[in-house]
Amino acid sequence: MTTYTAHNHWPVDVNLVEAEDRLAITWDDDHVSDYPLRYLRGFCPCANCQGHSGEPPKFVPTNNEHISDIMPVGNYAMTIVWDSGHDTGIYSFDWLRELCPCEEHKPAGIPAEQR
Ligand SMILES: [Zn+2]
Ligand SMILES: [Zn+2]
Repeated sequence: MTTYTAHNHWPVDVNLVEAEDRLAITWDDDHVSDYPLRYLRGFCPCANCQGHSGEPPKFVPTNNEHISDIMPVGNYAMTIVWDSGHDTGIYSFDWLRELCPCEEHKPAGIPAEQR
């Protein structure tokens, strides 16, 4: 993915709501992105999940996976570790913003049942 630039947004709060299987991210512009875990896992940005770069984000259906850890990567991304052991997904803030499932930002070309 693209690298961090000062023009992009970054999270000020990351809140894993395990009871509801979702991850809520509050951004520096006060926007809140509320990602169902299945959605977030489905759009894991790693090469194994997404294949060759340059293609639009691809949804990879998985079983009901949960987050076991979230680790910061520099100042541009976070690694999400899934309880399946899948830990190669480095979710850049750009990627997360791009995938924001809200009405305003919802990505084009992603079927409704995957949101
Ligand atoms: Zn992956
Ligand atoms: Zn949004």
